Amino acid sequence: MNNPFQNALAQLDKAVKIKQGQKFSDEFIQKLQQPDRDIRISIPVKMDDSSTKVFEGYRVEHNNTLGPYKGGIRYHPETEINEVKALAFWMTLKCAVAGIPMGGGKGGISVNPKILSKGELERLSRGWVQKLSDVLGPHKDVPAPDVNTTPEIMAWMADEYAKITGDKTGATFTGKPIEAGGSEGRGSATGLGGFYVFDALRKDLGLPEKCKIVVQGLGNVGSNAAQIFSDHGHIVVAVSDSKGGIYDIGGLDIKKLLEHKKNTGSLAGFGDSKQITNEELLELECDVLIPAAFENVVTDTNAGKLKAGAILELANGPITPEADEILFKKGVPVIPDILANSGGVTVSYFEWEQNLKNEHWSEKEVEEKLLELMNQASKKVYEKSKESNTDLRRGAFILALEKIQEKM
Ligand code: NAD
Repeated sequence: MNNPFQNALAQLDKAVKIKQGQKFSDEFIQKLQQPDRDIRISIPVKMDDSSTKVFEGYRVEHNNTLGPYKGGIRYHPETEINEVKALAFWMTLKCAVAGIPMGGGKGGISVNPKILSKGELERLSRGWVQKLSDVLGPHKDVPAPDVNTTPEIMAWMADEYAKITGDKTGATFTGKPIEAGGSEGRGSATGLGGFYVFDALRKDLGLPEKCKIVVQGLGNVGSNAAQIFSDHGHIVVAVSDSKGGIYDIGGLDIKKLLEHKKNTGSLAGFGDSKQITNEELLELECDVLIPAAFENVVTDTNAGKLKAGAILELANGPITPEADEILFKKGVPVIPDILANSGGVTVSYFEWEQNLKNEHWSEKEVEEKLLELMNQASKKVYEKSKESNTDLRRGAFILALEKIQEKM
């Protein structure tokens, strides 16, 4: 099993080596190799049958040089401290790449939320805040949604935090529903930001005007991305979720497909599509493969078999460092997570700013601001990678490290 934090450190090492002896002090790199603090909590929850169950929760604060710690909360049975540490580390770099004044943090609970009732889920979410209210705050640490955490969960958490601390800004949690102080455009921000990044780099990467797209993971990020790419004239030929995938060489009607999944709970049986496994999906011939589910899906075992023209990492950490090398040698460009999925944290930052200023921006305003930041970030990452004659991931790392070191 790949340890995501070890993978993150291997990526750091590879980027630092490119600039060996010239750029980054040992002290600075050592500081980034460990989070500022990692907090583990136990959360007792009263279950519907009156028993009490104790869940394990986490908050990792990696680095706040550029601003308050910022990062999502993941609910998943396999969530554990090394995953959360890796995700917090990537957040530090991601905020720097996106050019926003935030640091890196991440949280989680080891839980399968799908088997909890709504009441149990609410008590668990409020319990996470009760244990961590001291370390959170609009100018200290600002959580957001991630895998399996919804706007409703963010609203419960924001409400619990307000009850405990009396804070009235609402700026301690982002990804809230609009009526609870959320930002327009937050729901689709990661997918839209990913599209803007892809669009900014498409010609440089030699990709056609109309691309054949494959999306792994049809959750918040993947479904928005599939819809947005399709709305812009690209052809989404295959998608998957945890149960498996479907493929139609002629292209899938994403709007109808999402309705079908909502009605039947599954992708299977949609139109003329053929059922495929998640492994087969990754190896399909396409212009752009979009992993939008979990870490470590492209490894040294399957990287050599991939037939994608490029990879847009909307999930965090989907490619292991060994697989990265294989793809680099094969000449397959990878648009790295810390750039590709930075639209989510960027609009979270917009939400935080609106809450603090007591403003509400229109969706158009949010999208325009997002486009500007994503274009700038894409251009800078591309330039850095060319300057150092390396891949986009190392380019993005160097850009982020330079910014953080300078501020430190
Ligand atoms: P989500 O819970 O909404 O969706 C996850 C999706 O992955 C679900 O459709 C699930 O069925 C699918 N999935 C699970 N196991 C799978 C497997 N083995 N193969 C294929 N699909 C599988 O989560 P999300 O918020 O969309 O996050 C997805 C990824 O994007 C994560 O890596 C997350 O860290 C990253 N991300 C999310 C945001 C955000 O704003 N939500 C921002 C940046 C990055």
